[in-house]
This record gives sequence, structure tokens and C-alpha cells, in this order.
Amino acid sequence: MSPLPGILKGLVTTARTALRPSHTAEYPDVAPTLPPRSRGVIALLEENCTSCMLCARECPDWCIYIDSHKETIPATTPGGRDRQRNVLDRFAIDFSLCMYCGICIEVCPFDALHWSPQFEYAEVDIRDLLHEKDRLAGWMPTVPPPPALDDRAAEPAEVAAANKPPRAAPAGGAAGGAGAGAAGGSGPRMPRTVRPRPATARPPATPADAGVPTDAGVPTDAGAPTDAGAVADAETPKPPADGDAS
Ligand code: SF4
Ligand code: SF4
Repeated sequence: MSPLPGILKGLVTTARTALRPSHTAEYPDVAPTLPPRSRGVIALLEENCTSCMLCARECPDWCIYIDSHKETIPATTPGGRDRQRNVLDRFAIDFSLCMYCGICIEVCPFDALHWSPQFEYAEVDIRDLLHEKDRLAGWMPTVPPPPALDDRAAEPAEVAAANKPPRAAPAGGAAGGAGAGAAGGSGPRMPRTVRPRPATARPPATPADAGVPTDAGVPTDAGAPTDAGAVADAETPKPPADGDAS
């Protein structure tokens, strides 16, 4: 069999490929265009970390190492209690073990961990991929801002708390209680008052209930509230029963 058809076929393939535009990425001369939320490396916002160890406990690879100690903060008021807080001594992630699952970032309750698209931290020795908190904190400036909220989305809790007006001090001190607060109107929010339900709102008693005399020594229905409505009924003065009226 002649080898000519095979040679021609190979030449055609070579010519066709040579005329196509190249897809080769000229890295590092040309930086690649990555998606905005790429998982390059994990950055640490050290001020937010409370050493709660949640991330280290949830990491499936056990590649987060945290050391901390407790510090006593003296009381700020006379007679107050001293408080304690955790001080972070060490926070390290071994990126030779990390599988970039993002669980540590998801579980952190204080937003101390963030994804950064930075990926240029390759090392010649795999043992050098254990990065301490200073290196992790150095990646924070490369973390992109969070995406904008959807239209008509609820205001974030942090923003709502920051925009809330400060609560004014009650006029005349604490004396006066809830009634004084409702009447004074000094604060932005008035305490809720419990209104007794009108007696006409009670469902009519069944003939069976009306026929059974109630013993004064046995707790009646008013003594055993089953729901909020029952509690309100217990506090509402009841009209005298048929037996008492006679
Ligand atoms: S990074 Fe978050 S989850 Fe981990 S110890 Fe700090 S506060 Fe806790
Ligand atoms: S991304 Fe996953 S594997 Fe890596 S440190 Fe976080 S929890 Fe562990």
C-alpha cells in the first residue's frame, strides 16, 4: 500500500492548523483574564478573626492551623467585671493540602476569610506552601468587592444597624415604667401595651360547660393557659357565672 495518501493527509492537517489563530496564553508576559470570583487563594482579614476555630474544625483536609491565647480586659466601670478575649497568635493554611472547597470561607461567622483571584504563589519546594497569617493578610487588597445586591433586595443587617437612629434616653429616668414611656413619647419606639380582649370576643360557652358547677378549690380553665389568647383571657375580668349571680 502506498504511503502517499497518509503523507498528504498529514500535510493538509498541518497546513490547516498553521493557518488557525493561536489559543496559546503568553503567560507570564500576558496576564490571563480570569472570572471575577476566581478561587485563587484564601485571604485573611485578621481584625475580624476571633479565633473561634470554626474554620479549622470544618476544614475537610485539616490544613488550617490556629494558635491563640486569652487576654483579660479590665472593667471600664467601677464595680464592673473584667472581660476576656482571644488574641490570635498564629493562623496558617497549608495550600499543599487545601483543595479549595471554600468551606472555611462559608462557615466563618465574622467574614474573616475571603477568596482572592491571586494565583501567583507557586513554590519550588512543596513545604513552602504553608503560608502564615502575614502572607494571608497580604492578599486582602486583591479581594474584589462583593457583587451588588439584587433590585429590591432587603437592606443588609449591618447597614440597617448603622443607619438606625440612636435610642434617646428616657425622660425622667427609669421611674415611670412602660406606662410613662408610652405617655412621654421621648424615644423613637414606644413599648407595646397589652390590651385586654373584650368580653364579647369570648366564644359562647357550650351547654355542657354551663351545666357543670365549678369547684372553688379546683383550678379552672383560666389557670391553665394554652395559648396567647388564653393568657389574655385569664387577665381579663370575666362576667360572673350564672351560679354566682343568683
Ligand atoms: S477565620 Fe473565622 S471561622 Fe476561622 S477562627 Fe477566625 S473567626 Fe473563626
Ligand atoms: S478551602 Fe477547603 S480545604 Fe482549603 S483550607 Fe478551606 S476548608 Fe480547608
